[in-house]
Amino acid sequence: MTTEHGHPAVRMYIAGEWCQGGTGRTAPVVDPATEEVIGDVPLATTADLDRALDAAVEGFRIWRGTPVTERTRILYRAADLIAERAPAIGRVMTREQGKPLAESVGEACRTAETLRWHADDARRAYGRIIPSEPGTVLTVRREPIGPVAAFVPWNFPVGGPNRKISSALSAGCSLVIKASEETPATAAELVRCYADAGLPPGVLNLVFGEPAEVSEHLIASPVTRLVAFTGSVPVGKLLAARAGEVMKPSLMELGGHAPVIVCADADPVRAARSAARAKFANAGQVCTSPSRFLVHESLVEEFTDTFVRAAEAVVVGDGLEPGTTMGPLANARRLAALERLTADAVAQGAKTLTGGERLDRPGYFFAPTVLTDVPEHAELMSEEPFGPIAPIVPFTDLDEALAVANALPYGLAAYGFTGSAATAEKLSAELEAGILSLNHCGGSVHEAPSGGVKDSGYGREGGPEALDAYLVTKRVSHLLA
Ligand code: NAD
Repeated sequence: MTTEHGHPAVRMYIAGEWCQGGTGRTAPVVDPATEEVIGDVPLATTADLDRALDAAVEGFRIWRGTPVTERTRILYRAADLIAERAPAIGRVMTREQGKPLAESVGEACRTAETLRWHADDARRAYGRIIPSEPGTVLTVRREPIGPVAAFVPWNFPVGGPNRKISSALSAGCSLVIKASEETPATAAELVRCYADAGLPPGVLNLVFGEPAEVSEHLIASPVTRLVAFTGSVPVGKLLAARAGEVMKPSLMELGGHAPVIVCADADPVRAARSAARAKFANAGQVCTSPSRFLVHESLVEEFTDTFVRAAEAVVVGDGLEPGTTMGPLANARRLAALERLTADAVAQGAKTLTGGERLDRPGYFFAPTVLTDVPEHAELMSEEPFGPIAPIVPFTDLDEALAVANALPYGLAAYGFTGSAATAEKLSAELEAGILSLNHCGGSVHEAPSGGVKDSGYGREGGPEALDAYLVTKRVSHLLA
């Protein structure tokens, strides 16, 4: 079923049924490239949330008792459906979130691969047998933690929810997931793949609502055993504190402010091209997006020239138009934030080499922006921009650059460019980050763990570590005689 704007009509998915919220309350869904309302999203009542929680209890009972071979078969079928439907899912994603269609379709395809990766790991969630006293069998079992309360944002409308869903389901957990009210149809299309693959009712429940009301209710409920959140640091701290009050573990994937250190022995052109590509991907709305460019003074001119050329080559437009390489920002909040950060930096003496303002057309478009002479105390240097702004700052001494890089309370991603193995080792040892890329600005991959240190959160997604948060360890000693 679609809206008059040709967008899927959004429903919640509770206990195996697609449904409207109890009161019929809704919020509009906006196309960020046109600012037009293209649909609406139902908002859950407390009764809807309780139904989802009850369903998750029953779903957990069924799913944890389903043989792992059968669970894996269903998850693989869901992955096949995601891959098959990637072009359609991609279109829905671009209309709701704005990223270029090729990025959206690519995200859906990677999502299918991530699901297969985690489904394989479901078969390897081994326990162990420990040598013990004669007549005693001492074992360690790994069991699913229970129903999960998950909350995901709008920047990766399929990849984000799927990281939580695929890890939880592979571990044998059920979920109630609140996806973003700004990209709801995309999340619903993902959930539809799981439903169509034969996932039993209640195992996966999708809700939307007032974020604070939903998180308050789901976290406080004795049904949920783990709180998994991706989003901003302030909201993450709030939810982690709520989880702590009811003694629930949490998995926190929060924001960052990723430094890029370009050392004196690096290739400045290669570094600038790679950093610019990463900076403008998804219009900079990525938690690992490079956001402070610390460049050795001997290279700063060549690096900056190349970076500006790359910024000016970005084709900004509606993500559905062929040739677009950067879409609009996802919402009006981001546009306002970027205008504020740029104005503050410029008022404090920064120079705008390119961009610096929104485009003169409907839609939340902001030009790819390069700033120099940005003082350290400008808001942009400590507040995650989450948008296409690149402040370039020269440095003289590597230790000084490391001190600047590590000065913020964040520690998600960091990047380094150097031709020296010894310097690469120094960067690896000293940069305070959970994800470090050297001589490239690679994105997250499902085969390796991602996550932060310091205020950027705790726990890991991706790699075999992804299942850790969703499993509990039980020691069993069995006296045979
Ligand atoms: P926000 O802090 O208002 O919301 C971030 C996400 O958390 C949204 O999906 C929102 O629905 C959800 N949320 C907000 N309050 C909540 C609550 N009380 N309970 C449960 N969920 C809640 O920010 P925003 O304007 O949507 O995004 C801006 C900032 O968020 C960015 O600058 C960035 O730092 C951060 N962010 C990070 C990621 C990430 O991948 N780590 C993704 C999106 C946004």
